[in-house]
Amino acid sequence: MRIMDGHCDALTKLYMNPKLDFDKEEQELDVSYPRLKQAGVKVQCFAIYLSDSIQQPTFDHILQMVDLFHRKIVRHPGMKLIQNVEDWRAVEAEEQIGAILTLEGLDALAGNMTHLRILHHLGVRSIGLTWNYANWAADGVMEPRKSGFTRKGKLMLKELETMGIIADVSHLSVTAFWELVEVYAKPFIASHSNAQKVCPHPRNLSDDQIKAIIQCQGLIGITFVPYFVDCANLAVPITALLKHIDHVCSLGGEGNIGFGSDFDGIEQWMKDLRHVGQYGNIIEALCKNYKETQVEAFLYGNWRNFMLTNLPK
Ligand SMILES: [Zn+2]
Repeated sequence: MRIMDGHCDALTKLYMNPKLDFDKEEQELDVSYPRLKQAGVKVQCFAIYLSDSIQQPTFDHILQMVDLFHRKIVRHPGMKLIQNVEDWRAVEAEEQIGAILTLEGLDALAGNMTHLRILHHLGVRSIGLTWNYANWAADGVMEPRKSGFTRKGKLMLKELETMGIIADVSHLSVTAFWELVEVYAKPFIASHSNAQKVCPHPRNLSDDQIKAIIQCQGLIGITFVPYFVDCANLAVPITALLKHIDHVCSLGGEGNIGFGSDFDGIEQWMKDLRHVGQYGNIIEALCKNYKETQVEAFLYGNWRNFMLTNLPK
């Protein structure tokens, strides 16, 4: 069964630890080529995330990570960069695994539209506006003042829409989320967030937010961060993911569900989901509870529909 995963931080790990090798099965790397292959992942998103340990993120840091993405991930003969619909179809026609480059947090762009255009030229196809805290563009969901977009942030958001870069609302403050709904006219995603009704964590989406994503024909990547799946327990079984899927379905979002693992961005893991190679355990749990067509849609088909509609032609 084909799989698309909408968010991982493997690139950050490769950046912080140059000894890690994407081509090998490394204990420390949740997402590596052998593990993607083992699971049958067809498309994986790789986020440029400048971790908290980088004091002042600059555009140069971003360029270094784009360079790393090409040198360590896309250069593998089994991988192919997806920048448009044509690339997606080429990946489907071959044995290759597609890689989509994304950015998590506008911090290092400092309002520079030229830098944004350069990132588009370099293949960045989706951008999460913030990480957990405020940046020059908007507030993240953990920023105490709980504000929305700045004037410049709104301008860049409009620019994303014009350029065809997909907006990602995971980590965004609630105020900014609703401002985005007003300003951004295209479908958007929450690449790695769950349902607040099932697990009341601020990183998860309220029912109204889920409905807004469904309304715009967007996509929600159900994520494997244990404390976003089950707020009360530490050892979280795979079946706990089904509660989030069922809840989004109950709001009419069966066609808007995908997965966004957050592998390599987490330090705690769900039971039987230690790395991307274990996606088979999710398939098994899904197949016990849903029809085959639904399972295929959650794992791949919904992401595919979204991307074929929203990637550049
Ligand atoms: Zn994240």
